[in-house]
Amino acid sequence: MTENHEQKSRNTKKKKKRNYSIFRMILLIVILIGFIGTGALGGLVFAFIKSAKPIDVTKIDSVLSENSFIFDKEGNLIEKVESDILRTPVEYSQIPEHLRNAIIAIEDRDFKKHNGISIKGIIRATWENLKARGPVQGASTITQQLAKNLYLSNEKKISRKIIEAYYALQIEKHLSKEQILTAYLNAAYFGAGAQGVQAAAQAYFSKDVSQLDLAESALIAGITKNPAKFSPLKTLRKEDVDPNKHFIIDDSDEIYTIVYDERYKDRQHLVLKIMKDEKMITEEEYQEALHVDIKERLKPGGKQVSSGISSYFVDQVKRDVIQALMKELDKTEEEAKDMLYNQGLRIYSTMDLKMQKILEKVYEDSRNFPNLIAKKDGAGNLLSKNGSILLYKYDNLINSNEQLIIPKGDYQYDTEGNLVLFKGRRLNFDPLYENGEVKGIQVAVRDAYTLSPDKEYLMHKGGPIKIPSQYKSYDGKNNLVIHKEFLEHSPEFFSKGSNDSLLISKENYYMSDKGVVQPQSAMVIMDYHTGEIKALVGGRDIKGKKLYNRAINPRQPGSAIKPLSVYTPAIDNGWTAADVVDDVPNYDQSGRLWPKNWYKGYHGLSTLREGVQWSINVLAVKIGEQIGINTSIEYLKKMGITTIDEKGGTSDLNLAAMALGGMTKGISPLELTAAYGSLANNGVYIRPKSFVKITDRDGNVILENTSFKNLVVKPEVAFIVTDMMKSVVSAGTGQKAKLDRENSVIPVAGKTGTTSDNYDAWFVGYTPYYVGGVWIGNDVQMELASGSALSAQLWKTVMAKVHEGLPPRDFEKPENIISVKIDTKSGKLPTEISYQDPRGTVRTEYFIRGTEPKEYDDVHVELEVDTSTNKLATPYCPPTLVEKRIFIKRPIPYNPGDHGGIVPDDYIYEVPGMCDVHNAENNGIIIDPLQPLPFPTVPKKNENNNNLSEDPIETPVIDSGSN
Ligand SMILES: [Zn+2]
Repeated sequence: MTENHEQKSRNTKKKKKRNYSIFRMILLIVILIGFIGTGALGGLVFAFIKSAKPIDVTKIDSVLSENSFIFDKEGNLIEKVESDILRTPVEYSQIPEHLRNAIIAIEDRDFKKHNGISIKGIIRATWENLKARGPVQGASTITQQLAKNLYLSNEKKISRKIIEAYYALQIEKHLSKEQILTAYLNAAYFGAGAQGVQAAAQAYFSKDVSQLDLAESALIAGITKNPAKFSPLKTLRKEDVDPNKHFIIDDSDEIYTIVYDERYKDRQHLVLKIMKDEKMITEEEYQEALHVDIKERLKPGGKQVSSGISSYFVDQVKRDVIQALMKELDKTEEEAKDMLYNQGLRIYSTMDLKMQKILEKVYEDSRNFPNLIAKKDGAGNLLSKNGSILLYKYDNLINSNEQLIIPKGDYQYDTEGNLVLFKGRRLNFDPLYENGEVKGIQVAVRDAYTLSPDKEYLMHKGGPIKIPSQYKSYDGKNNLVIHKEFLEHSPEFFSKGSNDSLLISKENYYMSDKGVVQPQSAMVIMDYHTGEIKALVGGRDIKGKKLYNRAINPRQPGSAIKPLSVYTPAIDNGWTAADVVDDVPNYDQSGRLWPKNWYKGYHGLSTLREGVQWSINVLAVKIGEQIGINTSIEYLKKMGITTIDEKGGTSDLNLAAMALGGMTKGISPLELTAAYGSLANNGVYIRPKSFVKITDRDGNVILENTSFKNLVVKPEVAFIVTDMMKSVVSAGTGQKAKLDRENSVIPVAGKTGTTSDNYDAWFVGYTPYYVGGVWIGNDVQMELASGSALSAQLWKTVMAKVHEGLPPRDFEKPENIISVKIDTKSGKLPTEISYQDPRGTVRTEYFIRGTEPKEYDDVHVELEVDTSTNKLATPYCPPTLVEKRIFIKRPIPYNPGDHGGIVPDDYIYEVPGMCDVHNAENNGIIIDPLQPLPFPTVPKKNENNNNLSEDPIETPVIDSGSN
């Protein structure tokens, strides 16, 4: 490229001195006509021309073949951005005359007469546009457009217009009309990722450009003005396809469906009309072309195969680049795409190729992922928890002739001869609404599964069945009625199979051929210091292009939301890690026992640190209630979460969503990872980015991707929350994520998350270097065999390799953080008796200076006990049986009797009642010999209460998942 460029400059130097005064004259006139009212000054025009980069029009072919390039952080080329269809420049003789004329007709009628700029064209365009009250014709000649396509950006500046005209004059001076037209037809963008007429012929009709007839040529010529509007093909996501509204052209892709878009028609007819008016075609040819059914001719061309790493990251880069060009440089989407695909941009991505490869390697190994818990019915269909069919076994749905089977019991004919398909079987009948009214019924095949040779579950997406909408209705029971007329009209649609089944042939229904392995997963790794995405994988299928990217699609975060929505706001609002909340039965507004913990029962008095460490739901809910839903939302937003549902009956304005992560939409792995990054980055959120800058083909920076930053909390708050999450990994639910035994060489802070029924399993964690987020789940709501422990394990597998060779480093401790010894049952300073709690309840805790406790432990009490009854001693108890013991006295008393007899784990340490053996009444009665002597010093369950909790003090089991 640089070589080319040097040559270019050398070659043009000689010509530079030529006298262009005639052209300048013409140019001046053009400028005056074109820009009256804009105030452009003549002197400026010459200044612009002088500043214009010299071009070498004889090198047009090399400029034509310019791709954009994406580089990694080190500057290594990771992808040459090509459109889906390879561009193939063609010779003038290969281009049919109809097509050449069609372009001239619609774009530049005076092409053969002008010398690069057409004053007549400007006047006519102005007139036509005035008549139509909108832009229907451009004033630029084909030569000007070619100049723009080849040498200029899309900036809508006057200087650009002037330089464009100047280049056009140069092109005309050195090239023949044939050469110019050929170059133009090879360079123009025709939508559908097609640059040049050959690519367009392939993209729309799967034929060689020389085979295009008049109607097809007129269509293609009409597209280039506005490909988004005038392309006859539109690519939709599968869920957006409505078979009643859309004519499906191609349904072979996993995610996208190509449908017919009629809006090109007026434009195509206009092209034909001008051709007729200009005597390029006869009336007969005109009439014939008008009546060609383009819809039947359309046949989208094949896609290109990719190589090397998966497309997840580069797809993300391309998406972000298009967005940035639109937002920062004010381009339309089509202009931005044209720049990306055709203008030789250099895009510097944030990807760390080494990390990306590590990540993809781990994702290729199915041993790193759990299996499904798959309950099946007798026929082998996969069942949901409530016994309904979640995924049909593929062979049960589709026979060896690829026909869809509707078995005998799933349909009947009514008395009028209509076909009734029963609801709740192999087909879904979904009403299609328009302005609140049912406008049609979408009939679609349910999803199915096959097993891979390695016994992995592969999910196949079912899609629409093509029955025109006028023949479909519901009966009173929401079954689907297919009208008799349709059966008579298309007798071949349903054929008879064995056992009285009905069969539908392959062209009339959709089912993806390629199964997608389940469960699925996504992972993002970011450098939180800069917001740069270092590696990203959006699924376990990493071959091919345009993959479904689960890293940017929201899923329920479960407990992974707690540090963001509950604990960060709590610490920021005066709570401390040492504050104590009682994990005891709690109730929702309707009086229902809620929430459940993921472990059995309740832990009792727990600090906020323990709340995070053990992912205690009751604590999250109680604290969330006190800080308030709106506070949670405010912090989530500050951390870049954009998917909070704040409206309607199913909004996230409740504790189930904000404290426990049961959100309506959920949070994407990318957003969740970036949100944790803000805690890692001393409280400053940086919006994730996939590229750093874009330059043009000559290395001039045209866009710098500056970081969006947002202060969430001060560094001290971020540090405390980080340290709490360190406990999760050191000795809590996330131990599998540890990079070293003590979690101290390169410590990890993070949080697990599992949603109800084990549908989603998360681990998001960070080190002093990077933040990473892992999601595992199924594309359908199906239970996983193991929970977040596996996500933590997967995180560690990847991150251990990512951190290989990095020097030990700890999280930075702000100066304003102090360490204080506290008692964890009271959250206050320990007393002598605090130390006597057999559980060892004194520890060192971090505080933001000023928030440390000043009062002393008032939960632990030392009282005299009758060791024969384990109750408080009365004056009547024999002194030999009496000894001093340590108990806890809850600040808010808890009475199991008020809670259905439920006893929290620490209730055995509660102050017991008074001895009822030795009292004033039965003073001196001898101990019951059957009562065993209690174990000294460790209090035993009180007889009055021990009938309720049969479990020993529960030690949470780390591998059991749900947390
Ligand atoms: Zn006693």
